[in-house]
Amino acid sequence: MRGFARFRGAAVFLALAANIAFRADVTAGHMFNPSGLPLGGTGRFKIEVSSNVPGDDIEWTITEGADCVAFVGGNTGPEVAVTATATGDFRLEANIRGLVITSPRVLPFFTGAVYPAVNVPVTVWIVKKGDGLPVREPSTISGLLADANKILWQRGLTLVRTGPYYLINNTNLLDHTDVLNPANVKLTAMLDATNSMGNAVELYFVRTLEGGAAKGLCWPEGIVIAANGDGHTIAHEVMHDCGLEDIYTVENPNGADPNPVSGPVSAERIPADWGGGYYPPGLAQRELIPRLLMRGECFGPEPELSKGIYLPRGTVYGWRNAGGGTVRTLGNAGVGQSAVQRNPGSY
Ligand SMILES: [Zn+2]
Repeated sequence: MRGFARFRGAAVFLALAANIAFRADVTAGHMFNPSGLPLGGTGRFKIEVSSNVPGDDIEWTITEGADCVAFVGGNTGPEVAVTATATGDFRLEANIRGLVITSPRVLPFFTGAVYPAVNVPVTVWIVKKGDGLPVREPSTISGLLADANKILWQRGLTLVRTGPYYLINNTNLLDHTDVLNPANVKLTAMLDATNSMGNAVELYFVRTLEGGAAKGLCWPEGIVIAANGDGHTIAHEVMHDCGLEDIYTVENPNGADPNPVSGPVSAERIPADWGGGYYPPGLAQRELIPRLLMRGECFGPEPELSKGIYLPRGTVYGWRNAGGGTVRTLGNAGVGQSAVQRNPGSY
């Protein structure tokens, strides 16, 4: 009966839009139920209840981290906003008048953290095509970074371009293959030739990666974005630079049996994102994974890569590349805040 609670004698679905049902709405300039927010930022949280529950009957409290967040515009209704006043962990709880909670169930809640607001300097390098024009118009870069920043916001990170747009006059560097090979001479040459920016993220725009099969890549020396990459690609690669790994819904997309992750979402499969058990009934783990920013590939009818923007608090169960290799194993992948090891940069 996960996802249901007794309410005034009726079974009412509380689609706790918890960390799980995470409603990504970056086009409106904000996202709901983030796992983190920057100091000084405003986070929005909401639960979904049946329409017969008056908004005034829903009252939120800050049960942990009262010095870290404060309500903005009141603490009642299905949706509330908090402003981040100090770094640290917080917990919000929603109490609904008339809602009968029986053990082991608990009130709907969200946990999160306020992170320092960090501006990350970015230097931009663009390879020129044979006709002399840059493979990516410099005038479009600021929009790409703005899109990436809407996603990176949940870690407190803001990419800020510094210096001019550096144009690379070498058509040999337009297309790259074998990009996972650390002995890749051409890629190494491009990334090393310009590695003089200290802790700035070096962002390289090229034409294709793996013949169009990859949109972006992250090496310690820099991030490379192909012509089919976008702001979402940049955010994904920046989080790789912070230490996060990819997660997949299937073991082998090209095999006779792709072997998808089976079974429903459970607390053990998202250990740091327990939302009181109010998950949409029947939500499969395979449906959850595509909501994540670190989802590594599309398969079959699954949503596009750019649809998932969620950075969970902790690990998530799914297919992952063990030890950074190409052999996939089932396990809890470091795809969230707990896997962040450093601020992004060039190393
Ligand atoms: Zn990746």
